[in-house]
Amino acid sequence: MKRIYMDYAATTPMHPEVLEAMGPYFADKFGNPSSIHSFGREAREGIDASRDTIASFMGAKSEEIFFTSGGTESDNFALEGVVYANEKKGNHIVSTTIEHHAVINCLKFLEKRGFKVTYVPVDGDGLVDPEDVRKAITDKTVLVSVMHANNEIGTIEPISVIGKICREKNVYFHTDAVQTFGHLKVDVNELNIDLLSASAHKLYGPKGVGILYVRKGVKLVPYLHGGEQERGKRASTENVAGIVGFGKAVDVAKREMAELEGRLSTMRDKLVRGISSSIEKIRLNGHPAKRLANNVNVSINYVEGESMLLKLDLEGVSASTGSACSSNSLEPSHVLLAIGLPHEVAHSSLRLTLGRWTTEEEIDRVLDVLPRVVNKLREMSPLRK
Ligand SMILES: *Cc1c(COP(=O)(O)O)cnc(C)c1O
Repeated sequence: MKRIYMDYAATTPMHPEVLEAMGPYFADKFGNPSSIHSFGREAREGIDASRDTIASFMGAKSEEIFFTSGGTESDNFALEGVVYANEKKGNHIVSTTIEHHAVINCLKFLEKRGFKVTYVPVDGDGLVDPEDVRKAITDKTVLVSVMHANNEIGTIEPISVIGKICREKNVYFHTDAVQTFGHLKVDVNELNIDLLSASAHKLYGPKGVGILYVRKGVKLVPYLHGGEQERGKRASTENVAGIVGFGKAVDVAKREMAELEGRLSTMRDKLVRGISSSIEKIRLNGHPAKRLANNVNVSINYVEGESMLLKLDLEGVSASTGSACSSNSLEPSHVLLAIGLPHEVAHSSLRLTLGRWTTEEEIDRVLDVLPRVVNKLREMSPLRK
């Protein structure tokens, strides 16, 4: 049985060109980029070229890009870096109820250390109202953090407007763009962004490498203390191969992004239409139009998310759910609760995310398998009235 991967929001396979570009940096080009001999310089050149590629892709300057170990570190670096550097101004942060755990749990950590956080709510489609952000800002606010697009329900937030408000109010604006970087046009000037997180493995690059964009002039404390790498803000010998891979992934994205977005949104719409016509009592989660081209999130009444995943896996389909019974908590996804779903509906959610290698045949196969799986589970469901 050919397995079908529909979990591209969790991670993506690497593009072959990325793997090829990385290869030499595990072998001949193994030097430490801090060394001044020719081995070191060769590795340094790989990093510099990648930094230039990534910076120009987002309308930034090369010295505004910091390499990190991934999206999570970039989010932690942005939040902690800014709040600890600006304690004289205030101790208040504005964020939302639908951020990734990399932001939410870092904010909880900061709350325990005396910082105050306002979590702006979202509407039923998962949209943040920029005016709510404006109202939440006080004279003690040092940072606003709102994600570009949500990883579970795919809703794309009005971050350009939010960034403009932050500028008017003289508050730094951070966005977690892990789900959009390399998929949508992201220009830090058009979007009024001061800090931005991205991660290579969500755009056909390697795992374990990310970037934090920091606009020139933003004050932030170092994240790792040690050597002078990354202008003294993020010590540790660079992940050279990973960084080179990130640069190549961006090169490929530049070339293929627009075409891919069109292709994926067509397949996504077909998937949604198919599910809507073959399964009763479903709810489409996330904004119907302002959403990622590759994201489908549905709640399927009377069906428990994890049972659905296991059955789908047996049929060769890999997907994801907002139901979290296995992860030691009975709490379903905070995002699904934030858009107002009752617990039992949140527990019945299914996320299918498409990507570069998704085919029409795979969509058809899922549209054949899913209704059968749902019918079986519904027959057994005690929740069904
Ligand atoms: C995947 C993801 C992260 C975490 O990135 P890692 O590189 O896995 O640490 C953060 N935010 C969002 C929105 C994500 O989708």
